[in-house]
Amino acid sequence: MSNLVKVAVTGAAGQIGYALLFRLASGEAFGPDTRVALHLLEIPPALKAVEGVVMELNDCAFPLLDNIVITDDANVAFDGVNWALLVGAKPRGKGMERGDLIRENGPIFTTQGKALSKAASDLNVLVVGNPANTNALIAANNADGVPIERFHAMTRLDQNRAYAQLAEKAGVTVNDVSNVTIWGNHSATQYPDAENAKINGKPAYDVIGHHDWLRSEFITTVQKRGAAIIAARGLSSAASAANGAIDHVKSMVNKTPEGHWFSAAVPSDGSYGIAEGIIFSYPVTSDGQGNYSIVQGLSLSDWAKEKIAVTEAELRDERETVADLLK
Ligand code: NDP
Repeated sequence: MSNLVKVAVTGAAGQIGYALLFRLASGEAFGPDTRVALHLLEIPPALKAVEGVVMELNDCAFPLLDNIVITDDANVAFDGVNWALLVGAKPRGKGMERGDLIRENGPIFTTQGKALSKAASDLNVLVVGNPANTNALIAANNADGVPIERFHAMTRLDQNRAYAQLAEKAGVTVNDVSNVTIWGNHSATQYPDAENAKINGKPAYDVIGHHDWLRSEFITTVQKRGAAIIAARGLSSAASAANGAIDHVKSMVNKTPEGHWFSAAVPSDGSYGIAEGIIFSYPVTSDGQGNYSIVQGLSLSDWAKEKIAVTEAELRDERETVADLLK
């Protein structure tokens, strides 16, 4: 067993961090033949809490857990890492607009982007902290020497939510659902696409039949699921968000089965007429060797194109808001 993957996790003392670290250390994301080193970044007031999490990680005696670094310095955290999971972000304060939140997070992701230049040459970055797509854009534009396509933002939780909704409606399990795509921003404008989805290999629209539901409640349920969880639990989703991050990594490091794809927000190359450079969620496949491709040629109805245009416009606006932080 000789492989070692170094993984940085920011916001390590937070809710999502707590749900994520144990699964990374167990070997779930990178497989049974790869040891995992964890580099945990936190702001100074949270370092003590990270020490507690590390005690628990050690108490699990995970055979694959190599070593753990705790730091409040991004340059230390990202030194030599192969993956950076950027979970920590400033939460939205009372009365704060989305634009304010974007600006507040700008300095964090500018600093972290610069420090990512110290990472390993095969670095991949997954941004979870919100507003994830634009935080990823800022980090990508500040990371000298790191190819922009290595920066992703998480829409996998949204995809998983869509799978669960379609399975429940069709009276099947999630294993019977495939080819669901989240297009656009990880925000309430995202477009969960059931037009291309399949249930047991047949079009989801034919199997479910209830087209009004697919064009209304299905979409709003996925878009607003985070708020529904806060209303029910009194806390934001954390275990499912961590699970989305693990799924994202697994999908990127393994070859995607033929005919399948998964959703990830990646830098647009202009596919489907989307503005180049924004971090836009697309259907993607991985070759399992560190490269991914945007799935081409999916058919989109005029109605779907309108939905996609809305989420693209939001991401263009967000890019304008942080234009001074981009190169
Ligand atoms: P969480 O661990 O619950 O959330 C972390 C981030 O993930 C938030 O931006 C959150 O967005 C986002 N997120 C993305 N998708 C989801 C989803 N589906 N459900 C819920 N959250 C989602 O936050 P905590 O406050 O518990 O922890 C954050 C940690 O980050 C703290 O320990 C803090 O000290 C640290 N931090 C670190 C920084 C750094 O490393 N420089 C900077 C700022 C904070 P949303 O707020 O919209 O829910």
